[in-house]
Amino acid sequence: MMPDPAHVIRASLITRSIKCGKPNCRCANGEGHKSLYLSSYYNGKTQLDSVPKSFQDKVSQCIKDYEDITALLAELSCINLELFRRRESDL
Ligand SMILES: [Zn+2]
Repeated sequence: MMPDPAHVIRASLITRSIKCGKPNCRCANGEGHKSLYLSSYYNGKTQLDSVPKSFQDKVSQCIKDYEDITALLAELSCINLELFRRRESDL
């Protein structure tokens, strides 16, 4: 079954460690605060969008849907090319 294309997102979820800048914070001397980001590439630019924890599952699903649909389309294209070569499809 094809996932619903209405909610696809072409991006990847990444974790970034960010230093908040407060001199007294534990992150000043150690690891930064871990936050989740969506990394996407559009119009020649990589963009980072912060992802609240409550959106993590939903966003993961949107990314998976995009990958599933892309894989499905690639497979369909292969099949259609094969049919075209055999002239078994009207296209
Ligand atoms: Zn901090």
